[in-house]
Amino acid sequence: MTTSKAVLITGCSTGIGRATAGHLARAGHLVYATARRVETIADLGASGCHTLALDVTEESSMRAAVDHVVAQHGAVGVLINNAGYSQSGAVETVTMEDARRQFETNVFGLMRMCQLVLPGMRAQGCGRIVNISSMGANFTFPGGGVYHATKYAVEAISDALRFEVKGFGVDVVVIQPGIIRTEFSATAAAEVRGEDGPYAAFNAAVVRSTKSVYEKGPLARLGGGPQTVAKAIERAITARSPRIRYRVTPSARLLVYQRRLITDGMWDRFVSTQFPRPGRPAISSQPPPLVEPSDRVT
Ligand code: NAP
Repeated sequence: MTTSKAVLITGCSTGIGRATAGHLARAGHLVYATARRVETIADLGASGCHTLALDVTEESSMRAAVDHVVAQHGAVGVLINNAGYSQSGAVETVTMEDARRQFETNVFGLMRMCQLVLPGMRAQGCGRIVNISSMGANFTFPGGGVYHATKYAVEAISDALRFEVKGFGVDVVVIQPGIIRTEFSATAAAEVRGEDGPYAAFNAAVVRSTKSVYEKGPLARLGGGPQTVAKAIERAITARSPRIRYRVTPSARLLVYQRRLITDGMWDRFVSTQFPRPGRPAISSQPPPLVEPSDRVT
């Protein structure tokens, strides 16, 4: 019996998903690129990918896409859970409906896709699941509480799953991109609500900072394009023994390392140099000293 190597990718209309579909198809992989608006990926079809409609918030859509690949190849060989976005804004200004939609997309859709492909992978005794998390699963920026929560959840699900399915021949890999120039920042900025009220200035600063961090400054220089993530994903699906986590771009490695080095209090003071604190007069824009005696862990 031959084993399926079919690669199924969610969220290919733009950004990382699109770049990964094109990159893997050019490298000779059998790629099923998907998007909720399938017409947006017609050009990927012309460049060698199979294309399917797939909305990760719709059970029937997820099931139909997986069933299609299973009918053609016996199983999904590789699942790349990429679809996602940031529901940004102060926690109090995010409606519960928007928060649920965020978790439906970034967490429950990803989890359900794993559940749908696993029977086929277990039956053939091998498979690989690549979950696109974020460097933001290691720290939290104000104005990103709901989004970061989804990425922390992706890490927890991936860590449990990795142990649970290894014995069936299935590897679970996490990708933590840093600052990647895609549609991500524009979508995140557009999702911010609460233009009036006590968080107006703060949410406006979140929008400005979400845009500017991708356009200028040190983090932008330490970021990369979606192709960088596509190459890391290719390494993750072709390595004989994949790593558990791949951090992509220096921005991810630097910020995760910096967060590990400093205390919670120091992190709060660091972010207070980047965002106005709601409910209080603006704080000095001078960055705090990196180490203060009261912060030392004893
Ligand atoms: P992007 O260009 O905005 O792409 C997001 C993709 O997700 C789009 O194709 C979008 O499709 C799709 N999507 C959203 N909701 C969906 C749904 N319900 N069903 C199916 N597809 C859906 O952003 P990106 O940077 O490539 O983001 C890809 C992943 O990387 C996300 O999980 C994101 O959290 C993660 N990430 C990005 C960065 C970064 O800096 N860019 C950093 C860390 C992690 P539509 O066109 O239909 O909306």
